[in-house]
Amino acid sequence: MKPVMTLAELQELTPAYDDFAVIENCNIPDYYKTVFPSHCKCGAEIIMTREGRTQLQCCNPCCWIKMAHRMSYFISFHGFKDFGEQTCLSLFSACHDVLPYYSFLSAFSLSDTQLAVGLSDNKISLLHEIKEELQHHAFHFSDAIASLGIPNVGPLSPLFDVVKSPLVLLQYMLQGKTNELCDMAGIQAQSTRFHLRTFDIDVLLLMRDIMPNIMATPKGEVFVAITGKVSVRGQSYTRAEFIDLCESIKDQSGTQLYKLVETKSREKLQYVIADTPSNSDKYQIGRQLGKLITADEFYEVLMSAVQKEETATNEEKEENANGA
Ligand SMILES: [Zn+2]
Repeated sequence: MKPVMTLAELQELTPAYDDFAVIENCNIPDYYKTVFPSHCKCGAEIIMTREGRTQLQCCNPCCWIKMAHRMSYFISFHGFKDFGEQTCLSLFSACHDVLPYYSFLSAFSLSDTQLAVGLSDNKISLLHEIKEELQHHAFHFSDAIASLGIPNVGPLSPLFDVVKSPLVLLQYMLQGKTNELCDMAGIQAQSTRFHLRTFDIDVLLLMRDIMPNIMATPKGEVFVAITGKVSVRGQSYTRAEFIDLCESIKDQSGTQLYKLVETKSREKLQYVIADTPSNSDKYQIGRQLGKLITADEFYEVLMSAVQKEETATNEEKEENANGA
């Protein structure tokens, strides 16, 4: 992907911006045409929907201001603090000319000398710490991709119903076949399709340099709501600890079996985990839907799948032994 400096160029790449115009050609009072900037700081044209007067934006997908925004989204998505929007803007404002790729992730590979133009020493060491953390932790595939801030690709995107592993996604991207994926996942929105194509470089850098431990989406996503403190086999857990506990269940090959997705959506909810009755919304929804379960019972439901698998394998072994 190269910078796209004009709306005309952008419209050649995708139909997603057919309804857009440069400020001058928009149906807005002349007053606004003098107030709104015609060009972004990155040099590209500013565009907005011709009639709707909305979505004022830079036409360049590789705009460094957009990169700064996505960087700060990425960093806060993974729970890091003190590296916010202003810091990212300062970083990209100073360093966008020396980025090796048109991706916000390539900021992670700049040298300290390059970074020092835009960041204080403190922020530079913080950036190193963030990178270090990301490199040594494992991430769920859908979370990892969602953290890139590709428009409309959140952790529950239908994209992850059709691709479960990072390598498969990358394969489609490198072969220029992301539209096929969108067809399979039922993603119609042209802008989502366009940005998935455009941000293949982010996925590549993410997997290669930033998060070498991206796990395929585990077999079972379980949609739950958890109310208050819970306990399993006599030990009490906070919500986060309980989720960790359930997600640490592995099959015999060491593959994670479950990913707990917290939701309040009545359509999605499979279990409402509550050890004691309460007046909380979650509890009331669980009661209405008949989906209440204690943490202990829930944990046993998850474990029973592992035990079934073990029994099956043992039976196989026995059969083999008998046969031999
Ligand atoms: Zn721009």
